[in-house]
Formats: sequence, structure tokens, C-alpha cells
Amino acid sequence: MSNLPSEPEFEQAYKELVSTLEHSTLFEKHPEYKTALKVVSIPERIIQFRVVWEDDKNQVQVNRGYRVQFNSALGPYKGGLRLHPTVNLSVLKFLGFEQIFKNALTGLNIGGGKGGADFDPKGKTDNEIRKFCVSFMRELSKHIGADTDVPAGDIGVGGREIGYMFGAYKAAQNKWEGILTGKGGSWGGSLIRPEATGYGLIYYVGHMIAFANEGSFKGKTVAISGSGNVAQYAALKAIELGATVVSLSDSKGAIIASEGKSIEPEDIHAIAALKLKRQSLTEFKHEGKYKYIDGARPWTHVKVDIALPCATQNEVSKEEAEALVASGARFIAEGSNMGCTQDAIDVFEAHRKSHGHKAIWYAPGKAANAGGVAVSGLEMAQNSQRLSWTSKEVDHKLKGIMEAAFKNGLETAKQYVPTKEGEFPSLVAGSNIAGFVKVAAAM
Ligand code: GLU
Repeated sequence: MSNLPSEPEFEQAYKELVSTLEHSTLFEKHPEYKTALKVVSIPERIIQFRVVWEDDKNQVQVNRGYRVQFNSALGPYKGGLRLHPTVNLSVLKFLGFEQIFKNALTGLNIGGGKGGADFDPKGKTDNEIRKFCVSFMRELSKHIGADTDVPAGDIGVGGREIGYMFGAYKAAQNKWEGILTGKGGSWGGSLIRPEATGYGLIYYVGHMIAFANEGSFKGKTVAISGSGNVAQYAALKAIELGATVVSLSDSKGAIIASEGKSIEPEDIHAIAALKLKRQSLTEFKHEGKYKYIDGARPWTHVKVDIALPCATQNEVSKEEAEALVASGARFIAEGSNMGCTQDAIDVFEAHRKSHGHKAIWYAPGKAANAGGVAVSGLEMAQNSQRLSWTSKEVDHKLKGIMEAAFKNGLETAKQYVPTKEGEFPSLVAGSNIAGFVKVAAAM
């Protein structure tokens, strides 16, 4: 019996990693890594603080702020800040834990961390968000640094919020330092950073499709959930490569394109503008072009080749996974962190083991969505060099990192997880083991 409070999200992420390590030959080959697993499961440091700010009515408001500095074996703690009412220590520990291995898979020297607050940006004015961000950074600034801990965005934190926080840090510390990534282009941000998670996801899935001998994105149908930064750029890149994107969604419901039609790029831009104003898809004016399904996620309402959960954790249930398998979907990759429940992963993995090259193939977020943090790492490199690379250079490097992450997962699975003839290697096991081994060796 543990005397610790239960942390359901963190325990889910931890068990998911451990079960894949234990079902491989890793601990037989490297018994010493059992100790590394124990060590890596405890954050090096957790900072918890109070964020007091004033709303537009001059009323004092208070929130809980956090930074989990999980592991720095490979480099400075690196990972986003999430502003959402569901944020608590369990959620941030799960995200920070995933981030350690994701960051290892980028091949860059960055450790893992995560932070945020239980602040709800919905219904707040820009001025209130600014005041919150400034207060949040007043405390966080004592604990971060370009070679210590470099936060970035996550749900509820985009370029605007990073700007407010960066300005607050600079004013408080009287120094320009690359202490945040995802900054605006005119003050040290990297080109392609806003697009990186979505683009990287599509590049990663492109390798899955090619490995399975199924061509490319051209002519494929794709379901995407979410409508934030990750979903928007994944959709735009998939369309650019010739795919039909049939859905987007938010916490209130989903929009679905009519049979054979794609959600149009100009509508994705309109949705992006709406989301910047913190409005929901119910406000999206499209004159009946799309079907809106109240309260729904896309998975049971579509028939597609590729499903990309890009909203939040646990957004694909066992039943939805079964529906995707039954409808003939072939590739599923997470743009969100822990987008699939463990039951959903079990459905996909069981199908992979029993359907040879006609199986559905699942890729976990820690590999498939690593493009965002990878370009954050490239932003850190540019800041250190006092240089800005072109879009082409950054995109080229991003493509290389996603290819390496895919191949690393694939090859590691072949090495540590016995696979039957004709079976796709397990990308979830391979990515977990590859990320873990790199961190364990460094520790
Ligand atoms: N929040 C993103 C993630 O989950 C990006 C983190 C970063 O760029 O540091 O990977």
C-alpha cells in the first residue's frame, strides 16, 4: 500500500511505459535499467506556487501554479505550460514524464519538464490573460533559465501568452535570455515553431504509410480531433499533401465535412482566428457546409484511412478504438499527449498482432508529436547562436528529426520485442524503449 495520494493520469502514463518495457527483452539484457526506472519515475523537483492577479473588475483572483522539473539527464528541463481548469499535479506529472522520453526521441540535448496552472482562459479578456501571465512569471522566473529550464506553450498557451511571459521575465531579470520557446519571430522565435507539432505529426505518419507500402497522404481520408494549433497545422499539411480532412472538433462538439469533401484551408484559418478569441466551434459560420455534431468526438462518425487525435489526453476510448478498427482505419497517431486510453491502445495493439500488413498501426504521442518540442530545441540552438534560420532550414531539420524518431522506434522494437513474420513492429513499445534507454544510459 502506498501512502501517496492517487495520481490517476500519472499512474496511467507510468504503467503504459512500464508494461511495454516489461514485455520486451530490455531488462533481461540490461538488468541495471530496473534501477534507472525507479529513479526516473520521481521528478527531480516540483515547484508549486500561488498566482494572485486582478481581473477587469479589480477583484483579486488566485490560482495554483506549478513547474515539474522531471529529468535533466539529457539537458535543461524542457516542456510546455498548460493553462486549463483541469490542471493538477497528476496531469502535469503525466505530461512531464511523457516529455522526458519524447525529448530523448528528438535526439536533441533536452531534459523533460512541464508546468502550468488551473487558470481557465475561456471567458477571460486579453487584459486578464496578460495580468495572469505576468503574475505567473513573477514566481516562475525564479526557477527557470536558458540552461536550467526552458518552458514553452501547451493547451491554453500560444504565442500571445508566451509574449506576455517573456516580457515579464525580461523586465524582472533585466536580461534577454532564451528562457521560453514559441516566441514571436521578431523577438527570437523560430520560424516553423507554430506549425511544428502538426507538420511533424504528418511527416511521421508519412513514414508509417510508406513502410506499410500504402503510398502517401495523396488520396487518403483523415479524421482529426481538436481545433487548436496542432490540429490546424496537421490538417493544413495533410491537405497540402493531397489528403481529404473530414473533421475537426473542440470540447463542445465536432464538425464533419460532407461525403468526399475536405474541410477547406480557408475555413481552418477562420477557425484559427476564432480560437484565438477563445470562441467555440458553435460560433463558426459556414452556411451549412459542414455537419456539426453537438457533444461528439469524430471517431464514431467517420470512415477514414487515418485518425489523428489532436485535442487532449484520453480522447479515444475503447469503444471508439473498436469503431475505428471496424471501419477499416489503417493508421492512428497521436498529436495530443496520451490521446488514447490504455484500453484503446490495447485494441490497436491486439489488431496489429493479428492482422499482419492489413492491421491498424498505432503511434504514440511521445514519438508522433515530438516535432513541436524538437523545433523548440532548434529555437534554443538559434538563440544561443544569435542566429535565425530560414523556414526551409528549420523544416528540413524537422523532417530529419521525425524520420529519425520513426526509424528509432521501429528498429528498437525489432531489437527488443519479438515480432511474428509479416507483423508491423510495435511503435509504442519501440518508442518507449528507445526514449527510456537514452535517458537511463545518460543517468
Ligand atoms: N507542449 C508541447 C509538447 O507537449 C511542446 C513543448 C515544448 O516545446 O517545450 O511537447
